Amino acid sequence: MKCLIIGSGPAGYTAAIYAGRANMQPVLYCGMQMGGQLTQTTIVENFPGYPEGVDANQMMMELRQQAERFGADIRDGVITKVDFSKRPYVLTTDRGEELEAETVIIATGASAKYLGLDDEKKYNGAGVSACATCDGFFYRKKTVAVVGGGDTACEEAVYLAQLCQKVYMIVRKPFLRASDIMKKRVENNEKIEILYEHNTAGLYGDGKVEGAHLIKRKGEADEERYDLPIDGFFLAIGHKPNTDIFREWLDLDETGYIKTQGDSTRTNIPGVFAAGDCADPHYRQAIVAAGSGCKAALEAERFLQTI
Ligand code: NDP
Repeated sequence: MKCLIIGSGPAGYTAAIYAGRANMQPVLYCGMQMGGQLTQTTIVENFPGYPEGVDANQMMMELRQQAERFGADIRDGVITKVDFSKRPYVLTTDRGEELEAETVIIATGASAKYLGLDDEKKYNGAGVSACATCDGFFYRKKTVAVVGGGDTACEEAVYLAQLCQKVYMIVRKPFLRASDIMKKRVENNEKIEILYEHNTAGLYGDGKVEGAHLIKRKGEADEERYDLPIDGFFLAIGHKPNTDIFREWLDLDETGYIKTQGDSTRTNIPGVFAAGDCADPHYRQAIVAAGSGCKAALEAERFLQTI
């Protein structure tokens, strides 16, 4: 095949739309979570073109239909192994099939890390979120907590402080790991209160989050347990790009994001492109992912013309 796309988030589907329209007969493997990370959220209000917002699952279905309209062959299944040693590249599916592709667009996304509490699942979409930019707006004038002490947590806390009445940061260490500039921003923000040396034991609430069970100085002689009333619980303890199967072949940064060349989506392997969150530690937005999916398809098309 001319073009194999891995992943069914905004990057993968947009790549499929462009590749389909360029007559590349793309084949897209959906991966474990059809529709990608967006299907974890409810309403998307910041994707241009939807003044009233759009149901995230509906948006992903429509992107899929749009790709199919231009001939994309969209398949359930997961790519579990790749061999980029020579072209055509060989990709193995979870059913053991081997596929050969002249170009590969990797759009496998990233997954937010969670603490691993049962309550995170219980209240998912009902007060628990891993994306302040996506869901912060629903907590206007409310009280929220952000878990984490890195740059992402600080950024999310500052963003939420513009909307919310009060923002707690739940930080397990006695200090923030974030860069100095971000530390200053949260420390100087009067709406943000940093709870150092705090861990979350669970959440409570009737149908939605109404508070968190916190432990201060866990395991110490002066350990203290108390409940903090909050309306929203935002995880910001890092993301993990879904790039494990490419590790052997592609240049990744220290966190596992695929390194792309300059302003392009090219990886270190000719004909292999990376789009969306798997190659984006910075923005992690659907619109940015869609844009990079478009770039990857255009670059794959140009690559096919050179071979
Ligand atoms: P980081 O890994 O830097 O920080 C994760 C934070 O979450 C740490 O404070 C860590 O605590 C905490 N944490 C991790 N696991 C748990 C847990 N189980 N329970 C409680 N707390 C936990 O991730 P980020 O996403 O913040 O940043 C990733 C990279 O991206 C960094 O290099 C960062 O600098 C960069 N970045 C830069 C930005 C910018 O420059 N504007 C914006 C966003 C990210 P602990 O410190 O105890 O390990």
